[in-house]
Amino acid sequence: MFAKQIRWNPYIIVVVVAAIFVIGTVVFLGIRSNSEVKDVVEQQFTSQQMLLSKQISRGIEEFLNEKVLLIEIMAKQESQVPPDHFASNFKTIYEESSGFYAIQFINESGTVVSGYPEDNLPLGYNLYKNNQSWAFEKVQKDKKTYITGGVQMFEGDLGSFTWVPVFHEGEFKGAILSIIKVSDVTGRFLESYAPQGHVYLVDKYGMILYDSSYKLQIGGKYFDLVNESNLQQINTFQEQINGTEGNGKYFETSEDGTSEERIVTYSLIKWHNQKWSVGITNPVSDVDSLIRSVYIIQGVFIGVSGIFIFVGSMWVILFLVKWNKTLEKKVASKTREIKQSNELLQSANIKLKEHNQLKTEFVSIVSHELRTPLTAMKTSAEFLKDDNCDSSVRLEMLDLIIRNIDRQTRMVSDLLDISRIESGKIKFNPEITNLYSIVKLSVKNVDSLSKEKGVSIDVNLPEDLPHIKTDKDKLIQVFVNLLNNALKFTPKGGNVEISSVESDHIIEVRIKDTGIGIAPGLLDRIFDKFYQIDSTSTRKVGGSGLGLAITKGIIEGQGGSIRVESTQGKGCVFIFTLVK
Ligand code: ADP
Repeated sequence: MFAKQIRWNPYIIVVVVAAIFVIGTVVFLGIRSNSEVKDVVEQQFTSQQMLLSKQISRGIEEFLNEKVLLIEIMAKQESQVPPDHFASNFKTIYEESSGFYAIQFINESGTVVSGYPEDNLPLGYNLYKNNQSWAFEKVQKDKKTYITGGVQMFEGDLGSFTWVPVFHEGEFKGAILSIIKVSDVTGRFLESYAPQGHVYLVDKYGMILYDSSYKLQIGGKYFDLVNESNLQQINTFQEQINGTEGNGKYFETSEDGTSEERIVTYSLIKWHNQKWSVGITNPVSDVDSLIRSVYIIQGVFIGVSGIFIFVGSMWVILFLVKWNKTLEKKVASKTREIKQSNELLQSANIKLKEHNQLKTEFVSIVSHELRTPLTAMKTSAEFLKDDNCDSSVRLEMLDLIIRNIDRQTRMVSDLLDISRIESGKIKFNPEITNLYSIVKLSVKNVDSLSKEKGVSIDVNLPEDLPHIKTDKDKLIQVFVNLLNNALKFTPKGGNVEISSVESDHIIEVRIKDTGIGIAPGLLDRIFDKFYQIDSTSTRKVGGSGLGLAITKGIIEGQGGSIRVESTQGKGCVFIFTLVK
């Protein structure tokens, strides 16, 4: 719908492409940053988990080493084996440093001779007789503390046995055996961490010492329990028993067959010759749930950005469409204006050509008009030159010369008048004048022509015509021009009538003839200078084509107006106004 309404001009295409590009970039960056966020959160999560496993390791390590240290100090402080075989020291240590399951002294012949607590004390038990003397012999030989791996105890629990040899002046006096129950350690340090993931503990022999998920059997060998094909988990475990610290991922398949990826971090517990490793695992999905809220915020951000960009682009497109329409309108109006001014130019050009034509014609008319009286004057002068010319002919010739001089004077005067009108240099000398008397004077002026043509002139003016302020001579010129024309273009027996209508501010004068009239299309043209309806040399009447232009200039120059009405073949009426 919208697509149909808009015109796909280049601006709009650019905006749409830019909007698609920006939205695409936002979505791309959003997806990319999502995966980056996931990586970062996963790293953070892993390092937190690592920190936790290290805290646990350090706690266990301190706990165990402290126990060994206590026993070692005790074994060294006594220069000789005391008479009670450390029994009172054992009690003190046992009670003050919690965590021992049992502490015993075994004399140089391998027999348990003292210990604490009494409940766990197999007094008289001989290691050699029971084939359990190897660790005892080892510390005697190595002269240093030795800790065994997880040992199944009678109660079914795993125990860790610490053997500390007792020497006096280089002589072996026996060994102190302290037993720590692994479940005591794990209960103290690991069980409380269970809610934060699965925690397990293995020793360097691969024996499971603890597993919070209860999937791995305590005391069992890890490699026996884990699926052989789960290489990632086996690798992790291999690292653990090698005594390294680190992290990794593996898939764990549950009993219902579903497999889940888990993050594992592991850290080392080192005490004497023993190495244990604490592992913590958590499902990768925990990380996903952590960053889900980030995804939601990012999704909302991408959505909102997309909407903003879309709305913004639509706004820009609408703006461009509107702008385009305004531009189109402007262009159309400018085109119209240019067309109009072109038309004006064309008509001005036509007028110029016409003026040029008129000038050419004028030159021909003026030449003709100037030449004719000259020819007549020359002929008359030649007659006068002849001595035989009688006096009546002489007078006739002189009269002819004077008439032709008048004719030329009129022509030159007309040329001067039109030139003053056009240059705005025409001067009026207004004076209070009686219009009636001006008309009378003018009629008298054309009286001879009227008689010559046999055309009568009727003056139908009220005698009480008001006085007007006008240039008297120029107004006479107007009347004479118009009357001359009326007489010139009215055939014999015709009539010319002068009348007037008075209103508030003006007097309207009408000069009506019964002559040849003027074609409707030429009514305006006749006031143009040099314009003559019939300007050919064969025309019957004389004239320069300046009379009406001068008349118009005089009337309008004094605040009036002039027009003509005509019915061709029946005559015409010139109407002009005079300001009172
Ligand atoms: P001209 O000196 O040729 O008379 P005008 O300017 O007075 O020049 O008149 C211009 C033309 O207008 C005339 O040549 C004529 O063709 C026409 N014209 C003027 N008055 C009349 C009239 N009363 N009747 C018919 N045609 C007229």
